[in-house]
Amino acid sequence: MKAPDFAYVRASSIEEALRLKAEHGASARWLAGGQSLLAALAFRLSEPTALIDVSRIESLAGVSLIDGTVRIGAATTHAALGNSAVIRANVPLLADAVPLVAHVAIRNRGTIGGSLAFADPASELCACCVSLDAFLVAVGPDGERRIAARDFFQGLYATSLRDDELLAAVEIPAAKTGQRHAIEEVARRAGDYAMAGVAAVLTVDGRRVSSARLTCFALGDRPVSAAAAEAVLVGRELDEAIIDEAAGAALADIDPSADLNGSAATKKHLASVVVKRALMRILSTGVRVAA
Ligand code: FAD
Repeated sequence: MKAPDFAYVRASSIEEALRLKAEHGASARWLAGGQSLLAALAFRLSEPTALIDVSRIESLAGVSLIDGTVRIGAATTHAALGNSAVIRANVPLLADAVPLVAHVAIRNRGTIGGSLAFADPASELCACCVSLDAFLVAVGPDGERRIAARDFFQGLYATSLRDDELLAAVEIPAAKTGQRHAIEEVARRAGDYAMAGVAAVLTVDGRRVSSARLTCFALGDRPVSAAAAEAVLVGRELDEAIIDEAAGAALADIDPSADLNGSAATKKHLASVVVKRALMRILSTGVRVAA
């Protein structure tokens, strides 16, 4: 199938993008890397009258570190994110997540803003942003607002972004001493969307866990916080027994539906597998064991 006819306009600034959106109205859509949107158009899942290209707005691209906060422009490609020294040093979870997102060609065009706005429940970056306590910066006719990532995802491909708002940036607190992370997923082939995954961020002192964020992906209609598993970990010393307990508790946190990748029971099993793997990775590589 081919995409329906649409107008194409390219914005060179955020102000111009917002003006074009006001001009073209509700049926105009933002275009970033096009890696999800163009496929949706080809399948006629979406029939916008105009695409407003925001991928070349300079102020939407790039990564910076200011006062302990990493700011990532929404039009920053997955590839640029993966190659950024600032990201590797300050948000290493994202650096580890990028190679799991699709294939090189898609990573060269796809953007973090496009991923977050598209809100695929299997997206690695959406889950990472929840675990990292990120804030998403939206700009619209009424100015700027910051939305906590945990409040941003509202359901299947649904977010709290208003129709006339553009996602401008993602802000993430730089990793502090004691922060440990891991991302684990099971996929049919490298580059495929995950069948089940988890993005884990723990703060540990020695082995004692003082905070835990485990966000599951491909296991619900949005990124799902594994609150029961997190509660098992906080205040405890990380070891294999606690990890088994947390992996079991994660089953209470999710209620996956069967899909082309397997039954709900299979997905639940995979959830406990990825949670255990992520925590074991943190235990084996990141946690300082008292001498
Ligand atoms: P686009 O396709 O341009 O836009 C997607 C949506 O976001 C549209 O609705 C658009 O209007 C909106 N949008 C874009 N930018 C903004 C903005 N700044 N503000 C507000 N709305 C905006 N993703 C994964 O996470 N994991 C995977 O394993 C994975 N595998 C893939 C495999 C294949 C074969 C393909 C084609 C894609 C895959 N993706 C995967 C998706 C990929 O990461 C896309 O790049 C991403 O979902 C969309 O980013 P984009 O920049 O291409 O957005």
